[in-house]
Amino acid sequence: MLPVVALVGRPNVGKSTLFNRLTRSRDALVADFPGLTRDRKYGQANYDGFRFILIDTGGINGDEEGIDLRMAEQSLQAIVEADVVLFLVDGRDGVTVADQAIANHLRKQNKNTLLICNKIDGIDEQAAGADFYSLAMGEVFGIAAAHGRGVQKMLETALRPL
Ligand code: GDP
Ligand code: MG
Repeated sequence: MLPVVALVGRPNVGKSTLFNRLTRSRDALVADFPGLTRDRKYGQANYDGFRFILIDTGGINGDEEGIDLRMAEQSLQAIVEADVVLFLVDGRDGVTVADQAIANHLRKQNKNTLLICNKIDGIDEQAAGADFYSLAMGEVFGIAAAHGRGVQKMLETALRPL
């Protein structure tokens, strides 16, 4: 059985970009506006020798209503199904209220979770990451999903214990 990894975070942090990189598909929609993925989406990843099932999700804002509620429910379901959760945040935006809501939810789950600070290309990785230690989710892993930086180290840490 392959391990199951879920990509979780608020919309627009780069989950689908990372999904596409890891599964080498262009299926997951990447856009400059949030919320394109409403249902969770599965792919098989084979990246640098790491093989796993990956789940992309639309995202959680923490205050959903209407159609966004369905999107959030899909994210919550993906967390339930996952062996490892990659909790993505945006290194350019700093900590948001939605990030805090997701962190609070994840803290209550008994899940192996890694906090991933995406979009560190062209910015100070240390400074960008430092803000996110306030989420109290442990170590912050800097990556650039769009370019692949930090992705191998992230996978080593996420999948080594499994
Ligand atoms: P999602 O809503 O979390 O799935 O986010 P997307 O993957 O759709 O990405 C949202 C936006 O962030 C898009 O414009 C991406 O091109 C951009 N993006 C994703 N990863 C990176 C990255 O590593 N660096 C930069 N600079 N932009 C990124
Ligand atoms: Mg997406």
